[in-house]
Amino acid sequence: MFQTSVLASGSKGNAILVRSKDTSIIVDAGISMKRIYAALDQLKVAKESIKAVILSHEHSDHTRGAGAICRKLKIPILVTPDTYAYCSHRLGALHDRLIYFETGASFEIGDILVHPFSSSHDAIDSSNFCFEHDDKKLGLAIDLGYPTRLTIHKLSGAHTLILESNHDLKMLMEGPYEPSLKMRVKSDKGHLSNDQAVGLLSQILHPGLKNIILAHLSETNNLPHLAERLMQDYLTSIRSEIRLLVAAQDWHTPLVDV
Ligand SMILES: [Zn+2]
Ligand SMILES: [Zn+2]
Repeated sequence: MFQTSVLASGSKGNAILVRSKDTSIIVDAGISMKRIYAALDQLKVAKESIKAVILSHEHSDHTRGAGAICRKLKIPILVTPDTYAYCSHRLGALHDRLIYFETGASFEIGDILVHPFSSSHDAIDSSNFCFEHDDKKLGLAIDLGYPTRLTIHKLSGAHTLILESNHDLKMLMEGPYEPSLKMRVKSDKGHLSNDQAVGLLSQILHPGLKNIILAHLSETNNLPHLAERLMQDYLTSIRSEIRLLVAAQDWHTPLVDV
C-alpha cells in the first residue's frame, strides 16, 4: 500500500499525507493540529501511525501547525537548517525532536524513501519532493515559480503527481493584489500558474502516470473549475486517462493509491 491525500491546500495552509502500510508522514503542516486530526479521522488514518512531519520551506502556510503536532504526537520534525533558522520562532520548543535534512540528500522514514530537491521559490531553502515505496513514486511540487531542469528530472517517472496550479494569469493581473505582489506571484520565485502546470505536466508525461492532484490554488486569483478545465482539456486532447483531482483549502482529497 502506498497512498497520499492532500489534507488541505491553498494560500491559507497546506498539509499532505503520505503513507505506506506501516508508516505515515505529514508533509507541511500549515493548518491547525485540530484540522489535521479531523482530516485524518475522516480518512480513518490513525494519528499514531504518523512517524514524522517534513517541512518544505518556512512560509507560515506550510509551518503554522507543525510544532504543535510534533509535540503532541511526540514525533520528529524534519527541516533543513536554513529553513529552521527562518521559522524556529513559529515552531516553538522542539528539543530533541528536530532533525535536519539537506536538500538534495535522500533519507528514509520507516519504509518510505524521501528525495527532497531544490525548488525555485522566494524562501531561504525550499524543497519539492519525491517519495518512493514498493516501486511506486509520488512527486510533490508546490510553491515553485517555474519548473527548473532539476524539477523535470526529479518528477520524471512519477506514478502520482501533486502539482501546484496556483493562479490564472489573467485573474492575477486583473485582480486586487498590489502590483508588487502580482509581480512576486508570477515571478520565477513565486507560484506556478495553471498554464505552467500544464506545461510542466506535458514534459513528464509517461504511461505509468496515473493520478494528478492540482494543489495550492489561490482563492483570489484562481477558480477550481478553471484550473481543472485547463488540465482536463489538455489530458483529453492527448487522449490521456490520467485521473485528475483538485485539492481544496477546506476539505481533504480522498486517499489516492500512488
Ligand atoms: Zn505556500
Ligand atoms: Zn511558499
